[in-house]
Amino acid sequence: MASWSEYFVLRMFRLLRKLPLMKILRFGTSTEKFTDYFKGFEGVKAVRGIFGDDTDEILGKLKVGFIWFGYMAVDDEDGHLMVNSRYLENGDKTEIYLDVIHELCHVKQHLDGKELFDSRYDYVDSPTEVEAYRYTVIEAKRLGLSDKRILRYLQTEWMSDADLRRLVSNMGIDLQNVEK
Ligand SMILES: [Zn+2]
Repeated sequence: MASWSEYFVLRMFRLLRKLPLMKILRFGTSTEKFTDYFKGFEGVKAVRGIFGDDTDEILGKLKVGFIWFGYMAVDDEDGHLMVNSRYLENGDKTEIYLDVIHELCHVKQHLDGKELFDSRYDYVDSPTEVEAYRYTVIEAKRLGLSDKRILRYLQTEWMSDADLRRLVSNMGIDLQNVEK
């Protein structure tokens, strides 16, 4: 019998495996419907926690564009999601799932009129990043990911150990083994 966390990982695979990859490979610079590529997110509790009763409407209108670099981001002009199609195809499914949650927080922030790329702050101090990471880490803990695994997820290749510690401290969430 699958454990609780295995169950969620399997569910994530179900959410993500339906991606029509051939459609992605044919992409231009145009944007497509989020719900054509990311199935079932409107039923995810963490997503409903972000948008509340407006979840279906917002996800129904959300656009996604495919890029060839990085991971995922939200365009601060029109609030559409940008996704590296290669990452979507080859990346760790749990991390992709958590990234979608993170980026949907940015979608909400953009709708609320918040500045997504505020140059007054470093990345790990930016209030919009800290809020999005905080929400994502709470979801990761709920899924049963270990603190070590969460830290590995948080530390992208361009983030120093000191920056990682700053990010975790800014989030105000206890994560063991962050002191190195
Ligand atoms: Zn972010």
